Amino acid sequence: MNEYALRASDLFKTCFRKSPETVLFAPGRVNLIGEHVDYNGGRVMPCSLSLGTYAAAARRNDGVIRLVSVDMGGAAVETTSEELASLPCVPLSFARFGWAEYPLGVAAKLIENGFCIGGFEMAVCGSLPRGSGLSSSASLEVLTCAVLKELFFIRLTGEQAALISLAAERDCAGVNCGVMDQFICAKGRKDHAMLLDTHTLSNEYLPFDLKDAELLIMNTNKPRRLAGSKYNERRAECEEALRLINAAGLDKKHLCDITEEGLAFIEGALPETLRRRARHAVTENIRTLKAAEALKTGDIVTLGKLMNASHDSLKNDYEVTGKELDSIVYAARDQEGVLGARMTGAGFGGCAIAIVKKDAARSVIESVTARYKAETGLTCSIYTAKTGEAPFGKE
Ligand code: ADP
Ligand code: MG
Repeated sequence: MNEYALRASDLFKTCFRKSPETVLFAPGRVNLIGEHVDYNGGRVMPCSLSLGTYAAAARRNDGVIRLVSVDMGGAAVETTSEELASLPCVPLSFARFGWAEYPLGVAAKLIENGFCIGGFEMAVCGSLPRGSGLSSSASLEVLTCAVLKELFFIRLTGEQAALISLAAERDCAGVNCGVMDQFICAKGRKDHAMLLDTHTLSNEYLPFDLKDAELLIMNTNKPRRLAGSKYNERRAECEEALRLINAAGLDKKHLCDITEEGLAFIEGALPETLRRRARHAVTENIRTLKAAEALKTGDIVTLGKLMNASHDSLKNDYEVTGKELDSIVYAARDQEGVLGARMTGAGFGGCAIAIVKKDAARSVIESVTARYKAETGLTCSIYTAKTGEAPFGKE
């Protein structure tokens, strides 16, 4: 058992005065490319991480549910399966559970979908930074699905677990996110990235082999304060852009259904800001397909260039980067041995990623850390990303 699994298990024993029946893991994720397209029906290319969330859990026969987290401190959050079944799945009902709105939202959504969930106790411990864009929330949700599947012998596929988790995040926690996070946290595989069509959910595992390079995760340690409001604003802008494009004569279900040839049409049909938003969605989707091809053929140089272009589009057309993400990404790009760098996640803070030649990684980390500190006054955390196995990855 690793350190985090042990801590979850120890907390379980202290809090609930017995041993857990099971200890499970669900990964966080990093998106390699395909940003802000998962609500536009586009392709994304994430991979599941070795960092994630661990849970120690056991079933109870009296319907009582008790949840505790190593990372949140405080007493166990308590409810019952009966109460969950009667709660409307809206943020107002779940807010009082604090951090436990995520696992309890998942339990409530499972019940709402006809799964038989009784009482249980669960202690969690995460190795991911929380609120940094590596999807600790999806990791916790999917983990809860895996735990409840095992405790209550329910038949649940990875895709169902992802959709239940997504519904919990949207309805119970009130975060209007796309499907990518929950899908990759449920179904990712070690040593693989996934090309996922967020419209059809069709997906392909791609061996994640960067040859003589590796992936760095660069956490700006800047809280994503604007992320929620700006995220919703961008979603609304994309909906409006699609409406105007269709009113002007196209017939598209999603912005990402538009091809390279359709870009000229966008230029004519939309006002300035919406034109740039739509252009990002369309070009990012195209870049993601090219990036998948580059990864398949081992062309890491091209993959790096596509990542650079992705960041520039997110900065100039989509306007979701901000001073800190730009500083860390450009600091990385200026270093010898860096093949590409971009922000990842919703933006406005959180994490960026870089593909770096292995033999240059140490000096890149030192230089980027120093320059980022000088430019922003903040201290970043940079580490090598390792892929990890998701609970439904082998189904
Ligand atoms: P991200 O998903 O990018 O990490 P979010 O704001 O979406 O950021 O989710 C972070 C929230 O998820 C935390 O504030 C907390 O409520 C919950 N969470 C994640 N991991 C844990 C954990 N190990 N213990 C308790 N709550 C957690
Ligand atoms: Mg999240």
